[in-house]
Amino acid sequence: IESEQKLTWTGAAKRIFETPRPFESNKGMYGHVLLIGGAAGKAGAPSMSSLAALRAGAGLVTAAVPTSILNTVALITPELMTHPLSEDATGSVALANLQSKDQWLKKISVLAIGPGLGTNGEASEFVRRLVLESDIPLVLDADGLNAFKDQAALLNEASRNGARTIVLTPHPGEMGTLLGITAKQVQADRLNLARDFAQQHGVTLVLKGSRTLVAHPDGSIAVNTTGNPSMAKGGSGDILTGIVAACLAQKPNQVREAVASAVYLHGLAGDFAAREMDEHTVLATDTVAHLSRAFRYRT
Ligand code: AMP
Ligand code: MG
Repeated sequence: IESEQKLTWTGAAKRIFETPRPFESNKGMYGHVLLIGGAAGKAGAPSMSSLAALRAGAGLVTAAVPTSILNTVALITPELMTHPLSEDATGSVALANLQSKDQWLKKISVLAIGPGLGTNGEASEFVRRLVLESDIPLVLDADGLNAFKDQAALLNEASRNGARTIVLTPHPGEMGTLLGITAKQVQADRLNLARDFAQQHGVTLVLKGSRTLVAHPDGSIAVNTTGNPSMAKGGSGDILTGIVAACLAQKPNQVREAVASAVYLHGLAGDFAAREMDEHTVLATDTVAHLSRAFRYRT
């Protein structure tokens, strides 16, 4: 398969993070990630994504979450900035937040939407409208993807037919939801489904799982060689979302390399965690704790 389909591996792209930062660096040079997620009772996912974005090198990270969980998210990571979003009756992000979006979206370099958002109340409609009405590079995960159930065609409009950077990070279940098929059907034909979806919708598609695939709008596709079963645990995907957003924020003109690096580094950090701990005991936040070793690793 590998030679026929011209699969490359994601590790080669990591070189873009191997040169030292310029000595006269400041945080403005490394992008500002805005993570939108969470709902009443779902503070963990946006916390993990934003923590991972900081750890992966973003200059600034703001978490925009519903007011009822804002203090929880803020307390977990003091380096994080927060922005309160009003809630609808279900405790989900309210549509009313769109009215002032020009203010809170100002100076944001990457928008990451989805972790912990839920699909209740106005959340999905909020996501679709924000995605279509904004023009900044975008990472969509979890319920940010589920918001496009039966409406994947909207992604073409959102990507301005490939002119805007959009990265989707579905697990097989979320990919199935986007395609209207089961996770099992996705797993049976991962490579073709990923490549076709990326091409048809003008997006970068990260199809997660053992041997994550990274498919690009031009039809090229890469396979990830890092990661292990210790990562089959809640929170792992939320961490990846933050790393992808941070890598894009730092390398906005090298989308292909940034996404591949993020996927590779996430898996490699998980590999170091599993080696030092045990594959049963690793938590998603332990993977974040091992990111330094992944960044420092040289092939
Ligand atoms: P999610 O299902 O959204 O939490 O995402 C799970 C994350 O963990 C993805 O990045 C997967 O690629 C990774 N992961 C889960 N299970 C494995 C596995 N068996 N081998 C490698 N990576 C895995
Ligand atoms: Mg997930």
